[in-house]
Amino acid sequence: MTLRPLVVALDGPASSGKSSVGAAAAREVGYRFCDTGLLYRAITWLVLQRRIDQADPAALVALVGEVELATDQEGRLARVLVDEMDVTDLVHAPEVDRHVSEVSRVAELRAALLDRQRAIATGGRIVVAGRDIGTVVLPGAGLKIFLDASAEERARRRAEERGIDPHGPVARVVLAELRRRDDLDRNRPVAPLRPAPDAVHIVTDGNTFEQTVAEVVAAIQRVGDPAPGLAGLSPAGGGVAG
Ligand code: C5P
Repeated sequence: MTLRPLVVALDGPASSGKSSVGAAAAREVGYRFCDTGLLYRAITWLVLQRRIDQADPAALVALVGEVELATDQEGRLARVLVDEMDVTDLVHAPEVDRHVSEVSRVAELRAALLDRQRAIATGGRIVVAGRDIGTVVLPGAGLKIFLDASAEERARRRAEERGIDPHGPVARVVLAELRRRDDLDRNRPVAPLRPAPDAVHIVTDGNTFEQTVAEVVAAIQRVGDPAPGLAGLSPAGGGVAG
């Protein structure tokens, strides 16, 4: 038995847990998962590698064909290839973090990535994580979730992930960087980070990872087929759709 094929738009600020929570929730309900931030990160990585002007729309759009999302071992679109080379780890470098919001504010680049993201969601049964999924990419999504937490909480989690003392000076830099990126993402003219009017808000301050996953799973099950015993029946899989 499967859930009603649903598209779940999962948006939220940097380090709100969209990728990890989204992937875990998708696995529980047997959905595919896609992390759209990887597309913007891979383009940014290329920009830095090749010293391309990050404000030159034509130069950015020309890179789109070199970037491709790929499935990991569990069938999640959580890997990214550039010219068929897996750069998933490289695109999470702090240097990419620092520049990605400048690159992703370029309207022409965003437009060039739209069809690709929409094609991935074709067929439903997918959780798509990003910043503008519920508002611009998939405004017709059957469920929109806005995952949020205070900047301090998000910075603390990020510091923990990186093995940094959460009270030390490096953690303060992490917090400042996070605020700067949120600010750029929230205040850009095209597709700014903001909840869709019909989004379910999930605030995760004080939650464990498991509690947040449970909240997302519950939200999906409220909108999907309510028949009992569905959760956990099948692993997320299915590869690239569209
Ligand atoms: O989600 P992640 O932090 O990996 O995203 C990196 C950056 O990519 C964001 O800060 C944002 O500038 C951009 N992004 C976007 N739209 C999306 C996904 C990510 O603008 N749908």
